[in-house]
This record gives sequence, structure tokens and C-alpha cells, in this order.
Amino acid sequence: MKAMALAKVGPITSGMMPLQELNVPLPIPGESEVLIRVSACGVCHTELDIIEGRTSPLFLPLIPGHQVVGFIESAGKEAHKFHPGTRVGAAWFHAACGSCIYCKSGKENLCRDFAATGRDCNGGYAEYMTAPEESLFTIPDFFSDAQAAPLLCAGAIGYRSLILSDIKNGGNLGLMGFGTSARLVLAMARKKFPQTQVFVFARKADQQALAVKNGAAWAGAPDELSPQKLNAIIETTPAWGPVIDALKNLLPGGRLIINAISKDEADKKRLMELDYAAHLWMEKEIKTVANVTREDVRQCLALAAAHSIALPVQEYPLDQANQAILDLKQGKISGAKVLRIA
Ligand SMILES: [Zn+2]
Ligand SMILES: [Zn+2]
Repeated sequence: MKAMALAKVGPITSGMMPLQELNVPLPIPGESEVLIRVSACGVCHTELDIIEGRTSPLFLPLIPGHQVVGFIESAGKEAHKFHPGTRVGAAWFHAACGSCIYCKSGKENLCRDFAATGRDCNGGYAEYMTAPEESLFTIPDFFSDAQAAPLLCAGAIGYRSLILSDIKNGGNLGLMGFGTSARLVLAMARKKFPQTQVFVFARKADQQALAVKNGAAWAGAPDELSPQKLNAIIETTPAWGPVIDALKNLLPGGRLIINAISKDEADKKRLMELDYAAHLWMEKEIKTVANVTREDVRQCLALAAAHSIALPVQEYPLDQANQAILDLKQGKISGAKVLRIA
């Protein structure tokens, strides 16, 4: 089968394209796994982190991709959940131990043995992939394959961030950064909390305009003061500066959710600006988001389907995976990026 695989970790630029097209044997599902014929695979910022080495792949060459929509082709002998031909989704969650205190309390995202699709095992930048049937989701009929893909990570981790933000209907919510995940959070927040006003901080004028067009009450630059103080802010950038910028906009008791698997060191000196009175005093809280649970993915898919939430997608053929990631890195926001495979 055809796959786009990472052989060597390194920066991606227009002159350096780390993913290579490989012809590899069809993977064989284990006893409780299924073989999926991949139809579409979303492109996530975390793939950029994997390729450039900020979160390390378990082995090389690795096939990335963790927003996978496809169809069951065959199943191992202990896998009975899905019939052949069923449309399924695979997300960032691949496996966890199942027996630790986190796994037993629905927080498998925090398990020490958490294994991620497309980082700790091969993912969906390929014609086929295998996955444990317990890690898969059925996809609501409302979505096309390409529309469903970004919901599996950008949507699900956005949903988890929204829940962790503890925002109440009528509260003021901030979004720092306005990529695919934040755009889905804006759409979900407006449906789940209709009285809540959403304030968007984004660097580019086209991002700010898009936010207002999609229902944000206000949009401005990351270092601006919002016109009202905020109960919660979800921060989705790779940088440190926006963390400082966000904290000064929080109300007393407000909460900052940092939704990033890693942070660039480039602007770390901005942390020197941290001022106890301006940024932390009055019981402000900071919480990070780590991975997702299967329940997050299920609830995100259900919420999005119930309210017809689907972003425009920009499709690339599988062999253009490098270009898709490069466009993501350069912040081209024409749509959620999805590899169209079959
Ligand atoms: Zn566990
Ligand atoms: Zn992701």
C-alpha cells in the first residue's frame, strides 16, 4: 500500500519535505484489531510537532495521522464490534493500560501507558491502517468523510478544553489563537452556551474577520485588552507570549486553559513579564489539556452532529501531505486541512 512516512525528524520548509512516499506491506490486524481502508485523514498541528521533534515518534519510519475516517475492511478473530464496510473514525487515543486509577475513572488521557495514533503506532497517512476496535468511533451520517476528520482531534480536544474551562452559559469566553480547533470551539460554544459571548485573539486580520463573521462578540490582537474581562480563556498557540497576554484579561477566579502538546522556546523570555498582581492574583487558575478521552471524541461528534457543525475543508491528495503540513505551519487558514486518500 501507499503511505507518506516520516523517516527522519527535522524541520519542514519549502525546501525540506520530511515525509516520503513509501510502498509498504498491508498491515495485519491483531486479534482485537481491525483493518481500516482510509478515506480521509485530517492534518493536525501535532503532526508538525512530531515531524519537527517536539513530541517524539516511538519509532521510524512512522506513518503519522490521527484524524482518520475510513471503512472496516477486515477484523481480527476477537474483534466483533463492527461489520465490514462500517464507516469508523480513529483519533489520537490508540490505547491505555485500562487498569490504573486514571483509566478506571474515565481519564485514560492521563494514563502512563497512553499510546497515541500516528506517534506511538502508525496512523492514517496511508491507504490502510490497523487499530484496536475499542479505540474507534462510529461517524454520524451528517458528516462527509472529510468533514468528520477534523472533529476527531481538533474538535475533540477543543471540546475537552471547553469542558475544562468550566465556562457557564452567560460567561465570557476567550479564544487565544484561531486555528481549526479554536474555530470548532467557537461553533460548539455558541450552540452549547448560547448566552456566552466569545472574544477571539488572533494575529492576522483575516483570522479576526473570520472570527467575527462566525459569531465572535469581538476579535483583536493577542496583546490587546479585551473590552470585557473573561471568565475563561482557551489558549491554542505554540508560543509563550499569548499565555502572558491571556492572563491579564481574566476575571478574578478565571481560568486559563493551555491546549498545546508543547511550547516553542523561541519567545520563552516573555515569561519574565509574569507579574503576580496583574496575571495571577485573585485566584486565577492555569490548567493544561493533555490528550483526549474516548468520551470527549464521542461527545464532540454528537454535539457537532446535533447542531450541524462542520468547517469548510481544504483537501490535498495523500502525496501532497508535506505541502498540507507546510501550509498549516505557515498559518494559511483557507479551511481545515484534510488528506483525501480514497
Ligand atoms: Zn491506565
Ligand atoms: Zn491532533
